[in-house]
Amino acid sequence: MHELDLYVATVAVRLAAGTLSPSGSCMDLCPECLRTVENMASDELADHRVWTGQLYGLPATVIIVGCEGYWTIDPNAVGFDRPGWQAAESILDLTRIADRIRAAGHDATVEHTGGNTATLYAGPTRPNAEAGERDRYAVAAGPGWFGWARGRAYAYTDEFSIGPDRDDDDIEPGDMVSPTTEDEAVEGVLQVLRTATPR
Ligand SMILES: [Zn+2]
Repeated sequence: MHELDLYVATVAVRLAAGTLSPSGSCMDLCPECLRTVENMASDELADHRVWTGQLYGLPATVIIVGCEGYWTIDPNAVGFDRPGWQAAESILDLTRIADRIRAAGHDATVEHTGGNTATLYAGPTRPNAEAGERDRYAVAAGPGWFGWARGRAYAYTDEFSIGPDRDDDDIEPGDMVSPTTEDEAVEGVLQVLRTATPR
């Protein structure tokens, strides 16, 4: 079997078995053409190697090999010796993170917060102390942006952080979490949900 086919097959088996997490970059976003699977024409889709199944109990699509040949999941983690492999710039899928927060039993939503900015909110709401301002949630995470697929939101990990939904003046640096992977982002939201005291 060709090495590339073996890599794709190995990753697909491990994803299906739940023994491999594709976290660290946006799973259905090609890091080379920056298109989501949903937004690809069929001939464009044919240039990618894609797996579709269930991850974290939710429907998921993972690009395994990008259109220019990039192996999106660390080959060293699945038995291929590629010491020079580097992770692509990490993009988080805010829409899926919100899905996972809801699957964990909490309210979560991604909202437009000015311009094309997307902010993920989670937890119970409370009235804002400022008259006429939006209700506060327990947790706010951002900034993100609305992407190519209608209604889906993404964020670059190098500027993304999670913290209590308060005025900036009321947030201590120690309140903030800066995840680099989707799993860390989900865990970060849950952590702030546990620790944030409403104010
Ligand atoms: Zn591509």
